[in-house]
Order: sequence, then structure tokens, then C-alpha cells
Amino acid sequence: MLQSPVKFFRNLPKKICAECGQNIHEQAESYLLECDRCLAKKQE
Ligand SMILES: [Zn+2]
Repeated sequence: MLQSPVKFFRNLPKKICAECGQNIHEQAESYLLECDRCLAKKQE
């Protein structure tokens, strides 16, 4: 039986911030490799 596309994406590993190691909450900007806090720091 084939898996549904939704199930496939749910099985993807959780993203982890490359900077601090915290889990990144799923959001529209899924290409980001860092969490909001680290991104904010870089924008200073
Ligand atoms: Zn971070």
C-alpha cells in the first residue's frame, strides 16, 4: 500500500538549528537552517 503524501512529509526528521541545536518549529520558511532567535541575532 502506498503512503499518502501527507504521511510522507510527517515522517521527515525534525529540523534542528545549526547554530544552537534547538528544534525548529515547522513554518512557511522551511528552508531556514536556524531558529528564530539565531536568525534575529544575525540581522543585527
Ligand atoms: Zn538557534
